[in-house]
Amino acid sequence: MADLAIAVVTAEVEESRSVPEGATAADVVGDGRRVVVARINGELRDLATILRDGDVVEAVGVDTPEGLAVLRHSTAHVLAQAVQDTFPEAKLGIGPPVKDGFYYDFSVETPFTPEDLKVLEKRMQEIVKSGQRFSRRVVTDAEAKHELAGEPFKLRLIGSEGGADVMEVGGAELTIYDNVEAKSGATCWGDLCRGPHVPDTRFIPPNAFRLMRTAAAYWLGDQANEQLQRVYGTAWPSKEEMQAYLTFLEEAEKRDHRKIGRELDLFHMQEEAPGAVFWHPKGWSVFQSLIGYMRGKQQAAGFQEVNGPELMDRSLWEASGHWEKFGENMFTTQTPDERVYAIKPMNCPGHVQIFRQGLRSYRDLPIRYAEFGKVHRYEPSGALHGLMRVRAFTQDDAHIFVSPEQITAESVAVTRLILDIYSDFGFDDVRIKFSDRPEKRVGSDDIWDKAEAALKEAARVAGIDYTLNPGEGAFYGPKLEFVLRDAIGRDWQCGTLQVDLNLPGRLGAHYIDEHSQKQTPVMLHRAIFGSLERFLGILIEHHAGRLPAWLAPTQVVLLSITDRADAYLAETADFFRNQGLRVECDLRNEKIGFKIREHTLQRVPYLLVAGDKEVAAELLSVRTRSGKDLGQMTAQTFVERLRSELESRGRRTLED
Ligand SMILES: [Zn+2]
Ligand SMILES: [Zn+2]
Repeated sequence: MADLAIAVVTAEVEESRSVPEGATAADVVGDGRRVVVARINGELRDLATILRDGDVVEAVGVDTPEGLAVLRHSTAHVLAQAVQDTFPEAKLGIGPPVKDGFYYDFSVETPFTPEDLKVLEKRMQEIVKSGQRFSRRVVTDAEAKHELAGEPFKLRLIGSEGGADVMEVGGAELTIYDNVEAKSGATCWGDLCRGPHVPDTRFIPPNAFRLMRTAAAYWLGDQANEQLQRVYGTAWPSKEEMQAYLTFLEEAEKRDHRKIGRELDLFHMQEEAPGAVFWHPKGWSVFQSLIGYMRGKQQAAGFQEVNGPELMDRSLWEASGHWEKFGENMFTTQTPDERVYAIKPMNCPGHVQIFRQGLRSYRDLPIRYAEFGKVHRYEPSGALHGLMRVRAFTQDDAHIFVSPEQITAESVAVTRLILDIYSDFGFDDVRIKFSDRPEKRVGSDDIWDKAEAALKEAARVAGIDYTLNPGEGAFYGPKLEFVLRDAIGRDWQCGTLQVDLNLPGRLGAHYIDEHSQKQTPVMLHRAIFGSLERFLGILIEHHAGRLPAWLAPTQVVLLSITDRADAYLAETADFFRNQGLRVECDLRNEKIGFKIREHTLQRVPYLLVAGDKEVAAELLSVRTRSGKDLGQMTAQTFVERLRSELESRGRRTLED
């Protein structure tokens, strides 16, 4: 047999090699169960693929995102097989890998119960251990239709004209993956699938997958289609990795801002106002702390606060382009005089109206307008999630009008401001994403060059490596997105800085330049918290409800051991309030241990206790919510030390 000349890629280096005819990818790059598929000429393929002359082959480990997705999709097949073994009447939907796992949709008479999932998991273990081979077979449309006559949903995927972009079809040829028994060589199950898959089910570690939950789902996600039952699962290369993931989920659940919001009486939501928040006194206190803080920072940075109308006539939204581009997300209302208004989904058009009043000179620029603007956007009810995804929210929005020459300096200043503010909230792990010019865009290449260079410079000055999203900028300009990493490693995109080469011109904004010529300003859109509602949700989860004292709705609670301390504590509380602290008194006739427990659960940062001894000495016993005893001190000393903590935004605490 003639040898084939191929190239093997290892760590991005290509090495020529000669292999005998009939050699598979596994022969060249296989490595126990660490390597799950191969990349052949740039495409992911099964390890059983027979190589051809000139192929370029690379190992794809289970420790890579692509390899892991293959492991997860193969686990989804095992689930589907287990389902049809256990419930022979179940029809197959689709089953792709997703973040952290996979799902598979089934058409069944009755939804799966948690007990069903246990049974299925057990059956999956058996399949996995039996070492069935995933065997790829090319079929024609007609053959596939014949074989899958009993699978109505799969049938719909065959020959679907670019309709469905799913794992099952869409490759160059139609393929079925058969599950072949190790001993007998008999085919025991199969699924329409473009693959690739791990070589056999033993590549799926039996102790590193789990079925998580079920949910109703529409066929291909379309509400007009049949409802199916979706089973979600998770799968990992090792038991340890799965355990770490399950621990993470537990931790995330403990920190769920909806749960903590209830426990701490911060806010609630109800069906009559989907996606809108009822802020209770304590939640509103935190909200106001955020606004107060931001207001101070913005004033110092040269922003002027403005306020625009919530309702504006349809014609203005048509002029801005929102009516056409964003109409489906806008709430509208009609008045008795037959005019149609939209509730603002964005603040930008309002700010341009303010800029347009009077003649602007280049000497006035930059003009920086900031607004705590309440906006409404229609989101499908299924997408709503506590404070994280709402329909009514408050943006810390600002629009900066600049000349093209000022874009860089202003972008740098905004980026510095954003990072400075995140650091005050304890977010020092910040990433930046930079999206540059898309194919379809407005504005000259010259001004795009300037705008992109400005944002790159801003990222450089910030000293943070940015990741590039090529072509992902808005049609009106490039943007930077700021992503925070929270205490349990989740990423939250909050701030944005966008350069806008479109809207000011569209809405007729001008300034007079140094040559007395009319010019259109460039507008920078900037948000730092993004949505205050969401930012507060992130803070609650980041701190697990233990908000730093400068944000806590109640900073200090005064607790009496005996009613002989009541007068002393009431007086002390007044003193603290006069010093600007948020204070509560608990003078109930309850055991002190009970009271301490209750306020600790409420995550009040400082618990100040007084009984006869403290009253006589005019001292307070200071405890923290973490249970530390800081000893006794006078009210004056406590205020001074707490003030130092508040001013440091919690970087120094009384415990230090
Ligand atoms: Zn598949
Ligand atoms: Zn804007």
